[in-house]
Amino acid sequence: MRARAEAISHLPSASTSSPKPQSAIRNPIQIPEGTKTERLAALKKQTSACTICPHLAKSRTQVVFGVGNPEAKLMFVGEAPGADEDEKGEPFVGRAGQLLTKMIVAMELSREQVYIANVLKCRPDMPRNTSGNRKPTREEMDACLPYLRAQVGVIAPQVIVALGATAVEGLFGPQKMNMTRLRGNWRELDGVPVRLTFHPSYLLHNQDIALKRLVWEDLLAVMERLALPISEKQRGFFLKS
Ligand code: SF4
Repeated sequence: MRARAEAISHLPSASTSSPKPQSAIRNPIQIPEGTKTERLAALKKQTSACTICPHLAKSRTQVVFGVGNPEAKLMFVGEAPGADEDEKGEPFVGRAGQLLTKMIVAMELSREQVYIANVLKCRPDMPRNTSGNRKPTREEMDACLPYLRAQVGVIAPQVIVALGATAVEGLFGPQKMNMTRLRGNWRELDGVPVRLTFHPSYLLHNQDIALKRLVWEDLLAVMERLALPISEKQRGFFLKS
């Protein structure tokens, strides 16, 4: 089977006080020819062996590659695995993940029909004897982004939804605007339209119905872009009567 370089490299990153990924080493991603399922499997195998960020390779339970339909028209992208995801090996399986599943179901879709991944494939390490999750660094996300771009290249979704400010930063670099102003906008990643919206965990911490409506409007816009049927009931979700 002929190997095909995806011409994606890990490039040198800016200075940081955090442990630095060895991203100065060129690491072209090799994906063999084949079906989308076969190509994703090969990419997953390569990602699972990745040690470009030595501190994350050491601390992770496993690489959290992504799940879903290789033929998905819709892809959701978050920032990084947390403790639950690191343990289970699947993105968005904690409380935020359960809310994301509800959002997908409200679109009359299922997790099996879409594809879900993070910019960072390894859980950001935490200081010893501390719990919780930390935000990935710019350098870690820069080092790992080629894997996500390779996933996007294989799956070729029609639309991507970027969940939260950190995912937006990971995909498009530092932003001048905060998420309140960024959400509702469209960007583009390798030719694929990307809708920016809040991370589900933000909705968990802020139960304001107006906020839920904003996120739902983002998903309605995505459904329109995908030419999915939208019922009157769906159009009215989270509208105050
Ligand atoms: S975060 Fe990404 S680039 Fe860093 S070690 Fe994990 S898979 Fe490799």
